[in-house]
Amino acid sequence: MYHISDVKKFNRCPLLFLNDYTSKNTKYEPYVRLDETVSTLVVDKLKIDYYFLGERNDPKERVLEVLDQYEWFVKARFEYKELRVKVPFLHKTDKGYDVYFLFVGLYPRADDLQLYTDTIWVLEGNNLEINDIKMIHLNADYVRQEELDVNELFIISDYFYTDNHHPKILVKDAIESHMIDLTHTLKKMNATTYDTIDQPARSAKCFGRVKCRHFDTCFKSELVPDNSVLNLIGSRYRYDMDTEGRKTLKEADIEKIEGTRIQYAQIMADYNGGLFIDHLAMKAWLENVTFPITFLDFEWERFAIPPYFGMKPYDVLPFEYSIHIMDEDGTLSHKCFLSIHDDRKEFAKRLIEDVPKEGTIFAFNAVGAEIIRIQELANQFPKYKEDLLNLNKRMKDLQFPFEVGLVYDTRMNGSWSLKAIMNMLDDKGYNDLNIAQGMDAVYQWRILDREEDDPRTKEIIEELKEYCSMDTYAMSVVYRWLLGFIQNQEVV
Ligand code: SF4
Repeated sequence: MYHISDVKKFNRCPLLFLNDYTSKNTKYEPYVRLDETVSTLVVDKLKIDYYFLGERNDPKERVLEVLDQYEWFVKARFEYKELRVKVPFLHKTDKGYDVYFLFVGLYPRADDLQLYTDTIWVLEGNNLEINDIKMIHLNADYVRQEELDVNELFIISDYFYTDNHHPKILVKDAIESHMIDLTHTLKKMNATTYDTIDQPARSAKCFGRVKCRHFDTCFKSELVPDNSVLNLIGSRYRYDMDTEGRKTLKEADIEKIEGTRIQYAQIMADYNGGLFIDHLAMKAWLENVTFPITFLDFEWERFAIPPYFGMKPYDVLPFEYSIHIMDEDGTLSHKCFLSIHDDRKEFAKRLIEDVPKEGTIFAFNAVGAEIIRIQELANQFPKYKEDLLNLNKRMKDLQFPFEVGLVYDTRMNGSWSLKAIMNMLDDKGYNDLNIAQGMDAVYQWRILDREEDDPRTKEIIEELKEYCSMDTYAMSVVYRWLLGFIQNQEVV
């Protein structure tokens, strides 16, 4: 028996499907926190008093046997040709069944259409006549007060949204026009075994929206040289070029590259023996940096359903910051703040106190993270608004010279993450830490937030402080490295 996610994985890569299907019990911690049972909240939104509630191991006959007895069906399990689906909400009307898909996000788009069409395919296979199809999603404009208001929290929509968040594509029409018969796919899935499957081949499917979690297993024996064309950032054709025998960055086919500044920097770095630096542009960028320099980094949790006053769906709760302060003579001092549970007000207050009143503030990906977090805190706590926004005025993004190709070192292996750069400059760096990635920090903080008396509390607090502190220390190392170029010497 298969689920819709199995079909989706099979269409992406049969090996991915097989790996996950044969290790079904592996649990992955979600990126976004969702503590509530959303369907219970939606039951309130839809004002349903009496309904059939499906359960995980329901035999396929269970819901079919009671179709006449209920008007509403919540999480009912249906099966057709070995494909099992869970239908979030099903409403029997005089004209047929209305299906409500639940999208725990802000703007459902037609991207995941297959998921919905497969569900409708199964329902129709069970001879249910579908009258209408709607989406239930979170309201991006909702701001939580003391209590959660489910009427305001959810929106029921007949439409998928465009990239600009306009409701434009009728859900029912889109699903009907993309309906396919899955019989053939399910047969192929049945016939797929490790004996029949091809050797893994590195291609765009291994990356998708996020890198496949089996990547290191599939390709662990393949060592990619630093200057491999496979490291060409944002290249659609890097696999094609590699297959054609254009193995290195400097051999990249000019007709097949997008021509971004970072790609230019990568290719020039390979021509130069490993390093490209645009000295003039770098000098101009570093020119207006003033002391004391603050290196700032936040850690935060993201909640789908706002758990606290003043928060919107998918708002974040900053829980930790680290600050390294560099004086003109190069000495570094460190400060940090860590809260368990919601302490945003104290976070904002202490941040204003801890950051020096003058000098440049660096954050890595400041534009995509710290500047936004500070703006959010300013909106939530008007008392600190002015001081917080003054921090943003002094902020400079340390990621900038990397993302626009002012500098590239082939040892970065196609990544400009702080960790990749730090590992190149200082081989101790992150490698000695128990928490070595941002999401690991979030997962550990979840333990603290959920379990007051966890025996590892002290240890986790120390590990979180070490990790956040490493981020700001790493920024100081990267800054010195960049400065070294315009001082005509590399200082590492
Ligand atoms: S890494 Fe690539 S080949 Fe391996 S399972 Fe994932 S998608 Fe398939």
